[in-house]
Amino acid sequence: MAKGARERDFFIATADEIRAGKTTDVYFQRTLDILKKAGKDRTAVVAEVTAGSLPNDWPWGILCGVEETVHLLQGKSVSLWSLPEGSLFSPRTPRGIPVPVMVLEGPYGEWALFETPMLGFVCQASGISTKAARIRKLAMGKQVLSFGVRRMHPGIAPLIERSVYIAGVDAITTPLGAELFGAPAVGTMPHALVIVMGGPREAFAAVHKYLEPKIPRIALVDTYYDEKTEALLALEAIPDLRAVRLDTPASRRGNFAAIVREVRWELDLRGHTDAKIYVSGGLDETSIPALAEAGADGFGVGTSLSNAPTVDFAMDIVEREGKPAAKRGKFGGRKEPLRCGKCGTLEIGATKCPACGGKMAPVLVKYLSKGKPAAKLPGPDEIRKYVLSQLAARPA
Ligand SMILES: [Zn+2]
Repeated sequence: MAKGARERDFFIATADEIRAGKTTDVYFQRTLDILKKAGKDRTAVVAEVTAGSLPNDWPWGILCGVEETVHLLQGKSVSLWSLPEGSLFSPRTPRGIPVPVMVLEGPYGEWALFETPMLGFVCQASGISTKAARIRKLAMGKQVLSFGVRRMHPGIAPLIERSVYIAGVDAITTPLGAELFGAPAVGTMPHALVIVMGGPREAFAAVHKYLEPKIPRIALVDTYYDEKTEALLALEAIPDLRAVRLDTPASRRGNFAAIVREVRWELDLRGHTDAKIYVSGGLDETSIPALAEAGADGFGVGTSLSNAPTVDFAMDIVEREGKPAAKRGKFGGRKEPLRCGKCGTLEIGATKCPACGGKMAPVLVKYLSKGKPAAKLPGPDEIRKYVLSQLAARPA
């Protein structure tokens, strides 16, 4: 085994290793070495970060990962422009030109080593935040809870929870996420509690007796018996029952929406019209609308959020020493994306919106001026507000 691997308890790169360029693809290291020896590493270039297309033909994405990119490039002789974190973007303009979501300017040697981690920051985070925003929209205003941390390496739990929270998810699950981003951490109860207590009756009674009073009572009602049966047991045992959660296993699901409708009926029948119904277990974009319509009040969404497809951004040089220069398949020259103030369309070099005729305005913010901070980075709640306002303006 390579030196160092044995001393490491968890296989995550440290912040220092990322800053030192140790998580880069080694060909960048070798390129930098060659350029230095050839006396070309100070060559001034402009590079753009573009996606060109999105996973599953999504028409728009939510840009995430800007803050980490700024932190990585801070102190290097690089100027960085970017769409603000949380910006809704189309991969191409109506004219078909890939939208530059970030632009870098400076001597190439300053960031040669950081293309890999930079792309890693924005590709994964933007994939997760885009997925979260899509689910936010489909949930028709009902609660969306992020349950997917357990399916991913714990080293990136904060990344997942920040990305879903800024994209409009209502709550996350880890204490660390709550601490770092001020997002509410929620939880109901696991099946383990029911099994270890000896059955649902015993578990619900223990929740009523021992769970801290300030924590809302949410009973998981599918461990051993039918969801309706266990929901009624929960009502008996927990007078201030706030909600039930249905995590019905796939093998028993049949028509999950019909089960939700039936449980809703039984709760209402007994006067518990304010008791909510949460659903979880393998939920994704296709299953959420029918469940929302059936009366589910909230969705615990796991793997489909945390394991969202990445947005495959690429970084390409478009200018060398002030002159357009780009590889085959890429549009050369530095581009200034403009956004329509009315409908949000992005276009390059248009004074009027090609979609609605609205006024276009520059949209990139300069975050670093030769490595020095040039704009304030918004906090998670401010970004979240921005995302939600853009989503509200989009048709479903
Ligand atoms: Zn427009």
